[in-house]
Amino acid sequence: MKIPGYEIDLEKAVKIIKNKKYERVLLQITEGLKIHISKFIEFLEEETSASVIISADQCFGACDVVSSELKDMKIDFVIQIGHTQLPNIEDYLIPTLFINAKSDIDISIVIKKAVHVIKGKKIGLITTSQHIDSLKHAIKILKDNNFEPIIGKSSSRVESDGQILGCDFSAARSISKQVDTFLYIGSGNFHPLGLALSTNNPVIVCDPYTNQVKVDELIDIKDMILRQRYGAIARSKDAKIFGILIGTKKGQQRIELALKIKDKLNSKKKKSILLIQNHFTASILESFRDIDCFVSTACPRIAIDDYMQYKVPIITPIELDILLGIKKWEDYQFDEILI
Ligand code: SF4
Repeated sequence: MKIPGYEIDLEKAVKIIKNKKYERVLLQITEGLKIHISKFIEFLEEETSASVIISADQCFGACDVVSSELKDMKIDFVIQIGHTQLPNIEDYLIPTLFINAKSDIDISIVIKKAVHVIKGKKIGLITTSQHIDSLKHAIKILKDNNFEPIIGKSSSRVESDGQILGCDFSAARSISKQVDTFLYIGSGNFHPLGLALSTNNPVIVCDPYTNQVKVDELIDIKDMILRQRYGAIARSKDAKIFGILIGTKKGQQRIELALKIKDKLNSKKKKSILLIQNHFTASILESFRDIDCFVSTACPRIAIDDYMQYKVPIITPIELDILLGIKKWEDYQFDEILI
């Protein structure tokens, strides 16, 4: 089906619901697409006889799949719209179908603009799931203008080469030594900022929604974030009790890492408490007044993007290593969920 700006293969879900005779279907929708909810419901209710229930929880990524309580309520099928599946995860409690929201916007205008400002010849092309099919158009435009576009190989957590997640920049890291510049196709700062933090290459942002080409804007934001990270580590130096956060969302679970962190802190004579939750927020963690510093093994973006909301510092596992003197600040790396 088509909604303004996107093509969404909800027909695939209809076929599965009919074939498997599913009766209770849960719809998880990425935040930006929730405004189209009535169209999705209408389509599914017209095409199938299943009862369709919308998950009102926020759904930030494919890491976030529904929990066991829904199995108890006999939900027999889950459709997540707006994300591609994490291919390394297959054992879903309830059969789950991920449907990408493919943008139908023309990226050629902004790429043609960008060719006038790109420095260097070898260009790493990076995008998110929405624009993954448009990469071929970008490749052609760059080649026609004598650039050498390169698509990096993604890890097994990511569906397509050249695609990044907010916690997986393997497609960029795999080619960062070969390319002069990264060209990111997409909107907002969330993904390109992670790209800039996980590699040392310049990043040019091509926003196909506004047709703006941003060349230097990320430099200041990256500097500000790195200053914040340095400050968070410095503020945690005298912490007596650490809270180690473990996320229960299926694609965020890093309990082994959390346990290793606890051992590491023990060996440095530091106390720590393991905290497990589905969705960490600053207001929930405020109740744990004994804790002087949180170390997040859940979504890596909590510490980076939500930092200002926390009253006590929240740091990543790599930043804890710097704090404990195991790594140097010069070795700073952006935290990613690696498998
Ligand atoms: S862990 Fe965070 S960045 Fe990664 S997919 Fe989930 S919400 Fe996105």
